[in-house]
Amino acid sequence: MATTTEGFGGGPMHRDRARTFDSTSPATGEVVASFPLAGPEEVAAAVALAGQAAAEWAELGFEGRRRALLAYKALLVRRADELIALVHRENGKPRADALIEVLMIVEHLDWAARNAARVLGRRRVRSTLVLANHAASVEYQPLGVVGVIGPWNYPVFTPLGSIAYALAAGNAVVFKPSELTPAVGCFLADTFADAVGGPPVFQVVTGDGTTGQALCLAGVDKVAFTGSPATGRKVMAACAERLTPVVLELGGKDAMVVDADADVDAAAEQALWGGMANAGQTCLAVERVYVVDQVYDRFLARLVERASRIRPGGGPDADFGPITLPRQLEIIQRHLDDAFARGARALVGGRDAVRPPYVDPVVLVDVPADALVMQQETFGPVLPVIRARDAGHAVALANANPYGLGAAVFAGRRGDPIARALRSGMASINSVLTYAGVPSLPLGGVGESGFGRIHGPDGLREFTRPKAITRQRFALPFGMQSFDRPRFVLPAVQQAMKLRHGRRPGPRRR
Ligand code: NAD
Repeated sequence: MATTTEGFGGGPMHRDRARTFDSTSPATGEVVASFPLAGPEEVAAAVALAGQAAAEWAELGFEGRRRALLAYKALLVRRADELIALVHRENGKPRADALIEVLMIVEHLDWAARNAARVLGRRRVRSTLVLANHAASVEYQPLGVVGVIGPWNYPVFTPLGSIAYALAAGNAVVFKPSELTPAVGCFLADTFADAVGGPPVFQVVTGDGTTGQALCLAGVDKVAFTGSPATGRKVMAACAERLTPVVLELGGKDAMVVDADADVDAAAEQALWGGMANAGQTCLAVERVYVVDQVYDRFLARLVERASRIRPGGGPDADFGPITLPRQLEIIQRHLDDAFARGARALVGGRDAVRPPYVDPVVLVDVPADALVMQQETFGPVLPVIRARDAGHAVALANANPYGLGAAVFAGRRGDPIARALRSGMASINSVLTYAGVPSLPLGGVGESGFGRIHGPDGLREFTRPKAITRQRFALPFGMQSFDRPRFVLPAVQQAMKLRHGRRPGPRRR
């Protein structure tokens, strides 16, 4: 029998003792906590409450929301040690990786809170010569309720990357965290309730994919989904039922290109960190490295030397942690077996690198382009390094992949053109993943990596609908928009159009 109790994040959650699930530590198997598995009714109740809360939250205006979100940010920072310890327990990642998540999201919360009014507030825009008697303005209004569905690999940074921007834009949020990290999800919403109080504008519903699907079907005004392309397709199909718009932040197979005049040592160090931090379980992880012939041997020697010195572990200070999702171990093993069967060689690690729940670092060479490890997301500490003739060849190889999330370039002179030529939503030159920490930049993918953007002005607008308004300032004696217009009006307007727009383009006017 379901009973209604005060739920997580300030909203009601119907608890049914029979319908609960445990979240466990991937390192030790210890149970972190037990959570309700919310069904369609519980999700619908949360969405209905959010609908009421959204009206009050929108009423609060940009300034009220700015203060609320900055208070939330400050409380998260004061409770950062607790949050980091919880992420370490529930997700398995070491403290350093958890701290990086928190550091980055604090900047995003701050930026979204402070910039929403400037980006979304009402502003006048220019009219045209023919409609010069009309004033025009545009503003970006909140959608209402945004359903956020999150993954487990960055249980703080990833969902808050949508939630912070959705809230700053004036929406209420119902968040379905991954079933692997529900305690972190509840912590985020509880801290919001503690810092802000008031109506439940940020609620959590816990559960698995069925709960996520119920959220897609619950009549929310938008779904922000972060996860795998396979689930993204299911989310989009479910949302199609009610024409609910979606933003899909999906997986990646990010490439790094190392050009001849790069700082090779820095490139090797960053490839290692970008590929193996968080055990490679990063959507923006470096998963393929293309190095031009001239510096290939030097890069590889440095990478091998550095990769041989790092180790996974379950402690808070390990280089990287366990594989959080047990299923992923099979995928990593399959990618390794397939690569070896196709002639690849391991210079670090090997066939026995997978030691559940850990995977040791692996550096691969001689990997053919059609190997699974070159085509699909591996999500483990595995780095294939490929020799390219030159930078153009490296870019062509990098772009021959269905994913297109982030990318990295190590180069001297040609960093910029290489970064621009890579088919990806983001690229960093002489560093890895940096764009994710710059709040004024958009984040999102192309192809299998999804569409829509979070972060920055585009991320704020993603959770709004533009509202366009014209206002007649004075009436013209002979308007076009009347059946009674005198006969000369249309030919006169046509003549004006010819004069203004009919000439061949000349040199650009300054
Ligand atoms: P996943 O697709 O298995 O699950 C993601 C979420 O979707 C979970 O909360 C899950 O419960 C829910 N879900 C499952 N089935 C559903 C359904 N039918 N309808 C609605 N929701 C459903 O992904 P994961 O294993 O949790 O996360 C790893 C993936 O996320 C990787 O592919 C990674 O690259 C990607 N990711 C992308 C970004 C990005 O910004 N692009 C960030 C982090 C992770």
